Amino acid sequence: MSGDGWTVCALGHRHWGRFGAAGLLIVRGSDVLLQLRSTHVHNGGTWSIPGGARDRAESAAQAALRESAEEIGLRASDVRPGAEFVDDHGGWSYTTVIAPLVVPFVPRNNHESSGTAWVASSRVTELPLHNGFAHTWPRVAELVDAVLPRP
Ligand SMILES: [Zn+2]
Repeated sequence: MSGDGWTVCALGHRHWGRFGAAGLLIVRGSDVLLQLRSTHVHNGGTWSIPGGARDRAESAAQAALRESAEEIGLRASDVRPGAEFVDDHGGWSYTTVIAPLVVPFVPRNNHESSGTAWVASSRVTELPLHNGFAHTWPRVAELVDAVLPRP
């Protein structure tokens, strides 16, 4: 059952995804893959990660991988999904799935994306970020740090 549609969480926000939403944070070395949202979608012109509404029977990782396949051409075998951060609003949640890349990958763009960029995790906050992504980034960054190569 598709989760496409708007809902209202316990905090009174309006969110996309009747069963919550999920996104994939792809990590390559010390960089993460960010996606510039097309001006045709909600919060266009800001940076975020590939993702979207979860279907009813889908795990967060499954949803994040499905959306990444649609939006940037990622194959499930390109990454090894690991830690997850759940931003639970009550009645709606957004799960960020940390996914280190295991093979070389070149993203392609579709209509929901105006472009992608590998950004050093230490410099993510220098970009204009999507509100939801900016809100969770400090805690997500801790999970990214845990998978970065040690100097
Ligand atoms: Zn909310």
